Amino acid sequence: MTRTVLITGGGTGIGKAVAAEFLAGGDRVVITGRRQHVLLAAAEELGGNVSTVVCDATDPEQLESLRAQLSDGVDVLVNNAGGNREFDGPPPSDLQGLADRWRANMETNLLGAVLTSAAVEKLLGPGGAVVSIGSFAADRGAGSYGAAKAAMNCWNIFLAGQLGPRGVTCNVVAPGYIDDTEFFGDRRTGAFHEERVAETLVGRAGRPEDIARVVHFLASPGARHITGQVLRVDGGVITTR
Ligand code: NDP
Repeated sequence: MTRTVLITGGGTGIGKAVAAEFLAGGDRVVITGRRQHVLLAAAEELGGNVSTVVCDATDPEQLESLRAQLSDGVDVLVNNAGGNREFDGPPPSDLQGLADRWRANMETNLLGAVLTSAAVEKLLGPGGAVVSIGSFAADRGAGSYGAAKAAMNCWNIFLAGQLGPRGVTCNVVAPGYIDDTEFFGDRRTGAFHEERVAETLVGRAGRPEDIARVVHFLASPGARHITGQVLRVDGGVITTR
């Protein structure tokens, strides 16, 4: 059966790797993001059964329009859109700046997933799955970004309770340091990279494909009894307590 898989932020990095993974399994993929040229370039690179929709995951009006374009149903939702808005500039110097930074990270990393899930939840049927991309930052005391991802973990439990009776599973995949995405921008110097690799037990940086394969598994028949969970994929930086 060909499934329809909606991936927010699917034009780059982890989201694009998730799209490639589902396409390889024969599914139909819809990727969203705010930059049309990025989505079109990704669709060309990915090839196959891909559609693009420009949609800001934090904008209710744009989400209504996305929902209207998905009226045939959605089998898998991947809430991948996100980013650390602490990287937008120097640390805020006053309360207004602090408020703006916290709101930005909460919107980008939490509200976008909450609104997208609410927009399409009625389109998800039995056997469906919602997989949200969190972060190991949720467990590391990482300011507004980590707090937003920690809130995502809590909200995921609520969502799993809401959608479970309809046969839909909801889980968070929490990556560690993942190389080769736009996430860190020009912060990713050689020393920065080596420091993060040294934190892992496996001596390597994560790749977008490492996350994509876990997302694909969580949406597979073999994972039907896994829900309400956070699965860290961080090379063992944070181990089971
Ligand atoms: P990227 O910056 O490459 O990907 C983020 C994607 O999200 C972009 O395609 C961006 O496209 C899209 N996006 C951002 N905001 C919105 C929005 N409001 N609406 C729709 N799309 C949006 O980085 P990654 O691939 O690394 O990040 C993917 C996820 O993984 C994020 O949630 C991130 O927090 C998480 N993560 C990443 C880690 C890493 O080390 N790379 C570690 C832990 C977690 P556009 O700007 O065009 O909208």
